[in-house]
Amino acid sequence: MPNAALIAHNAQFKKAIVELAPRVWTAVGYAASNMHMIEGETSVTIIDTTESTKAAENILAEFRKLTDKPIAHIIYTHSHRDHICGASVFSPKGDVPILASANFSSDLIGVDPNAIAPNKSLGRRTQAQFGIGLPPAARVNLGCGPGDRPMEGLGAGYLEPTKRIESDCDIDLDGVAARLIMAPGETDDHMVVWLTDVGVLFCGDNWYHAFPNLYAIRGTPFRDFGAWADSLALLADLKPKVLSPGHTQPVFGVEQIQEVLGSTRAAIRHVMQVTADGMNAGRSLDDIAAGITLPSELADKPWLGEFYGKIAWSSRAFAVGTLGWYDGNPTHLGTLSSKTRARHLADLAGGTDQLVKTAKATDDLQWRLELCDHLSVLGEDMNAFKADTLEALAEVEINATARNTYLWEAEQLRTIPS
Ligand SMILES: [Zn+2]
Repeated sequence: MPNAALIAHNAQFKKAIVELAPRVWTAVGYAASNMHMIEGETSVTIIDTTESTKAAENILAEFRKLTDKPIAHIIYTHSHRDHICGASVFSPKGDVPILASANFSSDLIGVDPNAIAPNKSLGRRTQAQFGIGLPPAARVNLGCGPGDRPMEGLGAGYLEPTKRIESDCDIDLDGVAARLIMAPGETDDHMVVWLTDVGVLFCGDNWYHAFPNLYAIRGTPFRDFGAWADSLALLADLKPKVLSPGHTQPVFGVEQIQEVLGSTRAAIRHVMQVTADGMNAGRSLDDIAAGITLPSELADKPWLGEFYGKIAWSSRAFAVGTLGWYDGNPTHLGTLSSKTRARHLADLAGGTDQLVKTAKATDDLQWRLELCDHLSVLGEDMNAFKADTLEALAEVEINATARNTYLWEAEQLRTIPS
C-alpha cells in the first residue's frame, strides 16, 4: 500500500476548471502542469500550455465551453517542457504571439546533440522520475501532477517564443491590466503574470503545494536557492488575492497566500542555513543530509510535504552547488574504485557469501541497497533482491519522484537476464 500522505496528495490534482476571478480560469488535473485562460474584450490569453498536444486539446475543449473568442496571446512562465509543449494547439498556424522572459531557455542539460559531451542519461532519469511506462495506479501521482495523464503528443507542440520580455513591464491583455514580473526561482527564466486589477497571480513553478523541487533527481543544474527565496518575498509583497500555481490547486485569500509564500521562503532559507552551518562545522554531507529536518513551525504545513522536492536532496544540492563536490575531508581527495571498496568490505565481513547473508538479514533497507551494490560489483546476482528492496522502499516513500524512480528502476532490474 503506497504512502497514505502521497495518496491524499491526489486531491491537489482533482480535475477541474476553476474560476479564479470573473473571466479568469485555471485548468487543474488535466496534465502534469496547469494551464490558465484570461478572457479579454474580444480575445483570450493563454498562460502555459502543458506537456502534450493531447492534454492541451482536452483543456481547450473545456475552455471553449466558456468562450469562443480567438486566442491573441500565449505567455510562457518558464521554459520547462511541461509548460511549453502544447503550444501548437493554441496557434495551429504559428501566428499567435508568444511572450516569455528575455533569458527564456531550457535548464534541461544534455539535450543538445551537438554538445561536446551530450549527456544521454537525462532521458533515462526523466523517465524514472516520472515513472513513464509504469501503470498509472502504481505511480499514485507525479508529486506535481496526476499519475494518469494523456501521453499522446508528449513534447510535440513546442513553439518558440516570438517576443522576449527584457524586464518587468505592464501589459494590456485586451482590456485586462497585467504586469509581467521577472522572478527567478525553480528556473532562472521565470516570468510571473500579475493581474493587477483582480489580484490574481500566476506564479509559474515558484510555488506549488509541495516542498519546492530545489533539486530534481532527473538531473538539473544548480538552482539558485537565495534567488528563489527572494522571489517568494517579492510575490508576497504583491498581496495577491488568488495564487494560481503551475502545479496543484489554486490558493484563495490574502492571508492564506501570505502564509504559504512566507513559510515556503522560510523553508528554503532554513535548508540553506542548516547546510551552511553543517559545512562550517566540518560535518559530512551524508550527516547533514541524514539529519536535516524542517523546524516544527514549518514541518506541519501541508504544502511543505515532501511530495515533490525533498529536504535532504536540497541540502546536498546546496552544498555541492555552492562549494562543489569536495566536502573538506581530505580522505575524499583520493578515490577507491567501487570494486576495490566492495572487495575490502567483503574481506571485512569474512567473505562474499557472508556479505550476502548480511544483506539478506538486515532490516535497514537503505543499508541493504548499499550492500546489494557492493555485491553486484563483485559479480553476485543481486538484481531480484535489489528490486524487492526498491519496491519495499517505494511503498513507504512520501516523495513521488523517489517512489517512481524506485519502481521504475526495480522494473529495469527485473528485465535484466541473470
Ligand atoms: Zn512545472
